[in-house]
Parts: sequence; structure tokens; C-alpha cells
Amino acid sequence: MAKGLSFSYSKMGMYKECPQKYKFRYVHMLPEQPKYYFAFGSAMHEVMEYIYDPKNPIFPTLQQALAFFKKHWDATSFDQKGYASMEKEAAGFEEGCQILRAYYDKYGANLVHPLSVEMKSTLDMDGLSLISILDRIDYLGDGCVKILDYKTGKTVQREPDQLMMYQKVAEASPMVLKLVQTIDPAIKTVRVEQMSFYHLPTQQELLFERSSDKEMYEFWQRVLGVADNIRAGKFAPDPDENKCRWCDYRNICPVFTGKEYEGPGGWGAKTGTGTASSAKPTVSAVAKTTEEILSEKIDRLGSMQQEEKKLKTEIMSLMKELKFKRHFGSKFEAELIDTQKIEFKDQEKTMALLRRLQLLSKTLVPTQSSIRALLNDPTVEEPAKKQLRELATENNISDLEIKEVS
Ligand code: SF4
Repeated sequence: MAKGLSFSYSKMGMYKECPQKYKFRYVHMLPEQPKYYFAFGSAMHEVMEYIYDPKNPIFPTLQQALAFFKKHWDATSFDQKGYASMEKEAAGFEEGCQILRAYYDKYGANLVHPLSVEMKSTLDMDGLSLISILDRIDYLGDGCVKILDYKTGKTVQREPDQLMMYQKVAEASPMVLKLVQTIDPAIKTVRVEQMSFYHLPTQQELLFERSSDKEMYEFWQRVLGVADNIRAGKFAPDPDENKCRWCDYRNICPVFTGKEYEGPGGWGAKTGTGTASSAKPTVSAVAKTTEEILSEKIDRLGSMQQEEKKLKTEIMSLMKELKFKRHFGSKFEAELIDTQKIEFKDQEKTMALLRRLQLLSKTLVPTQSSIRALLNDPTVEEPAKKQLRELATENNISDLEIKEVS
């Protein structure tokens, strides 16, 4: 039997957002750039799965949950996660830890094992191979279940299509029925009685009732309509200023290039079935313009400079605290270099004095550095230097020199 069109709520969402974008992502198989909010959401989902894993009879402590979160978080670098800098990545990690602490404060003493966590289901239905991940299923008794979805964005709102997809999948899934029957063997059908979005950053739960049969029928017709359009190869772009500004496919999109994207080496030949090509080039591999490469390098350099500044301040402060002038790493050494900076803040008095001492002509243009140079000028008399010094304020400036250890 021919395999159905691979379909999910997120695929439907992308097609509705812009069919052309769907085509780039799922027909041409061009992955999007990593997004920090997806990485953050995925890390939070992983740790919630770890906390509630029905295979572990004893719930992990907060410390164990934090350690698990750190291990998962540290498995990828900041840019692999889509963060702009290590600082931003560190702020994301701290936010995740705060969420876990707040979650344990609220529920730590009363954690209850759900029916399942992160249940991945693939259902064949009406020519579709429907893929869903149900974050958490709680059993309410009498064959009724509650589906809970964790949200980690800034805000959370009702997403009717997502709720209806969960209802459809959970009620049709043999896996969910089997799980319910492990508790209630007499149950023949599963009913989704409640659904909720649990917003982890605010620890708030939004509860939703099940959708009516009429709503479910209309929803399913919309799903089948989208699937028909995909099979028919209808991928007309649906541009919109906001959508296109953040779209990773902008520079290969016909709206902006004026021509249909063909893909290198013929792998981008038109298909309407969602069949994956064996070669899977990334957007960055095929689509970056020189300007984009330049922008990326500027961003990378900017992030590195920010990181360098932060590290330098931290090293200097540690060296001062330990009263070290020099210290060694395994490859590099650092030396704290103190210099004195002399400043002439009262410009009028300084100029009057220079005039009186007939030193004005020596400075060419009287800037801070040219006046400072007079203090080291052997042709300037010591009494004149003394008077100049009396007008100056001196500040100690520290800098750090890093050299490779020889
Ligand atoms: S740039 Fe705009 S029109 Fe083109 S694929 Fe992206 S969202 Fe669609």
C-alpha cells in the first residue's frame, strides 16, 4: 500500500503561513537556520520528560533535574542553538533553571506519574501519515484523558487547530487506548475530556474543553484540503512584510528573486508529494549571498568581541582579587599592565599656563596627548613640568596582555 503523505500540525501551520515556505522546507528539504526559542523549548521538553518519565518510579530531585538540564544544554554550542552570543545563551540557561526551581516549588512535593510523556504517534488516516508528539497524557478515569502541552514562548494563546489535532490523534491512537487499558482493561474507546497548554515561564495552565463533533469535522476537512493542495503541488508564495522579514528562504524566494528556485544539480526538481531528495543541502549551503556571508561574519566578530570584553574584565578582576600580576593557563599567559593616564581637565587654565610658559608652540595642536608629551620632553624645564603636573589629574589604567606561553 502506498505510504500516505507525511503530515503534522506544524507542517500544516507552515503551509498555512506560506505554501512556498513549506515547499522550501519539506519538498526541497532545506532546513531552516537554528532558532534559539526552538532550542530552549526542546531543552525544557526534555527535562519535563525526564521528571515525569513513567519508567522511573522515583521522581528526580530538583538538583537532579537541574543537572539533567545542564547536561542537555551543554551538548550544543550557543550558535548551534541559534543564540546570538554566549551571553544570551547563558541567560537562556538561567531562565530554564529558574523555571525548574519555580516548577519544583509549586509541584515538587506532589508529583504524580502521568499515563505517558512525549508520546510519538504515527497514524495512517485518510491517505495521511499523521505524526504527533503528545507532551503529557493524564488519565482521568472512565476512558477519559487530559492532553497537556508545554509552552515556553513569551506568551501563550489558544491554538484551535493544535487542540483539535491532539483530540483527533489521541482518540484514534491504538497506543493511547493500549495505555488506558493497562489501567482499565474494560475500556474500548478513549475520550479526550480536557486539553491544556501549560506555560512554563509563568507556571500558568490554560484549560480547554474538547471540541464538538461539528468543529472536528470542519477541522478535518481543512486538514484534507491542505493535504490535497500539497499533493497537487500548489505552493504559491504568500508574502507578508512580517513573515518574509524573518523567513530563512527570502534570498531564494521567487517573490524576491523574480524566478522559480530550481536547486543545484537538479535536486530541486519540482515535486508535489513531499518526497525527500536523497541529497539534503542546507539553506546556508545553497542560498547564502556574499552580503549574507558578510553579515554573518560581522555578527560573529561582534559576538566574539563582546565575549572577549567580558572575559577580559573577569580575568582582570580575578587577578586583582588574587593580587597577581601574571598568571598562566596551559597555553597562554596573562600579564596585568598598569599605566598612569594623566588628564588636563581645566582647559582654560592649561592653555593660559602653556602660553605663560611659552610652550604652546611646542604642542602644535594642544590635545591631551600632545600636552602630556611635554611632561616627557627633555627640552621643557622641570619647574614648567611641575606647574603642568599641578593642573593634571592622574588615573591608573589597567590593561591585560595575553601571550602564547613559550
Ligand atoms: S520570503 Fe515570504 S513569500 Fe517567500 S517563502 Fe518566505 S514567507 Fe513565503
